[in-house]
Amino acid sequence: MDFRYFDAAESEFGWYSEDLIAPTPVECGCCGKIAHCLEGHDSATDASALGCLGCLNARKFQIYHETELGRMMDGYQFRKRTGNPFAGELVETYSDLPDGFQPSSFDELLQTPYFHYFQNEEWLVHCNDFMVCLGRWKPEDFRNHAEDGDSDALLKSMTDFDSQVDLQLSDLSNPTYCYVAFRCRHCRKLRGYYDLD
Ligand SMILES: [Zn+2]
Ligand SMILES: [Zn+2]
Repeated sequence: MDFRYFDAAESEFGWYSEDLIAPTPVECGCCGKIAHCLEGHDSATDASALGCLGCLNARKFQIYHETELGRMMDGYQFRKRTGNPFAGELVETYSDLPDGFQPSSFDELLQTPYFHYFQNEEWLVHCNDFMVCLGRWKPEDFRNHAEDGDSDALLKSMTDFDSQVDLQLSDLSNPTYCYVAFRCRHCRKLRGYYDLD
């Protein structure tokens, strides 16, 4: 199944799973088939929905992702988090799609599986579009993608570093780190999002 915003093996999808490790086949809430399912949202009933990939593709349910613009909502809006969530200081604001952003981008991301993360999802954005998720990268993936062989420089160029975290390439061998790579559909820039267990 092809997704505009996901270019990785299905093992990179954030499947619904009771133990959060391996997907458990369950009954699809949309078609009744026993299948690996994703947890999403049924806009008809405004309730959470469990659905299979076929039903996601058929737009029987949606997945409202957390993105760099905020959490997706109905009507091409985002719920933004400001302040420091760890200090309990959460302020919600609302905004329409930014200038240059296409409604079809929003619609397609609603039909895109989650990627793997530990604490928070954040779908990255570039060139007024959502980026294409390439799945989790380990140090060898940086070596394979570094055109000049400098995988440390590639990691630095892809990552917006939080001043609190000194992320090194070798850290990504550790299973408590999750680094998810993205590619821009327009300029092909690579960026990454990382999360700690
Ligand atoms: Zn289904
Ligand atoms: Zn770009």
